Amino acid sequence: MGKPLKHKAPHVARKRFGQNFLHDPNIIERIISAIAATEAQHLVEIGPGKGALTEHLVSHAGKLDVIELDRDLIPVLEEKFLTCSNFTIYSSDALKFDYGSLLAEGSQKLRLVGNLPYNISTPLIFHLLENVEIIEDMHFMLQKEVVERLTASPGTKTYGRLSILVQYLCHAEQLFIVPPGAFNPPPKIDSAIVQLTPRIQLNKSSQSHIQQLKNAQLADLSFIAKAAFAQRRKTLRNNLKKILTSEQITQCDIDPVRRAETLSINEFVALTNQYVQSLEV
Ligand code: SAM
Repeated sequence: MGKPLKHKAPHVARKRFGQNFLHDPNIIERIISAIAATEAQHLVEIGPGKGALTEHLVSHAGKLDVIELDRDLIPVLEEKFLTCSNFTIYSSDALKFDYGSLLAEGSQKLRLVGNLPYNISTPLIFHLLENVEIIEDMHFMLQKEVVERLTASPGTKTYGRLSILVQYLCHAEQLFIVPPGAFNPPPKIDSAIVQLTPRIQLNKSSQSHIQQLKNAQLADLSFIAKAAFAQRRKTLRNNLKKILTSEQITQCDIDPVRRAETLSINEFVALTNQYVQSLEV
């Protein structure tokens, strides 16, 4: 008698990896149509899980790389996609991953997609923004509340440092909301799909309304935004008093008694340029 067949225990969703697996075919279909991958394109999926989106992406994209942290999911993915020649699995942490290493010389920019683990979504977006020059666009599922912050306009409650940094580099748009029932296990809150398109990808007219940092880095913009929002209800003069004088704020054509949440991205860029210039003298 042969050995009894060993059945592997089914994979159980792990909270620490932010695992909420998509199972609603209508939502999957909407996400796949929003991405609209073509055979000429190079896609990278972050956190493929058991492959709910992967199986559709792999049949449309020219090349699909996936990055998955949970080692127990790697054999599941290997078994499903073993025969796909355009598919590569990286058993790795998306937060530490070198995205530039995926680009062959002179090759297409990357299209990033993913139903992201919610516990790492903000640091992951910051890590990806450091690689913005090699990215064509990004489509991510995130907590609705994070998508609202990414896409917020000045004067709204959700407008803050994350909105400013992301929108300085990318055009950010909420595509649609996804209810908890679309996932297994269901999260406690609504999710939403966001599309981020680096401004360098957009035509000149649509990027022209955002001023550029002069001799300043994204870290300087982040520093100014963080300080300006330190106490939301206080004026700029108050929050920035150790960084810029009222005169320096006025020189940027900004009234120092305004609150940070009323300032446009360009006004934050102007304050940052002013700050960096003040360090040079
Ligand atoms: N894409 C699948 C779906 O839609 O059903 C799974 C989405 S689930 C919300 C997030 C996935 O990201 C999980 O497969 C999880 O193991 C993986 N993950 C979590 N942290 C990660 C990290 N730091 N790097 C790469 N993958 C990660």
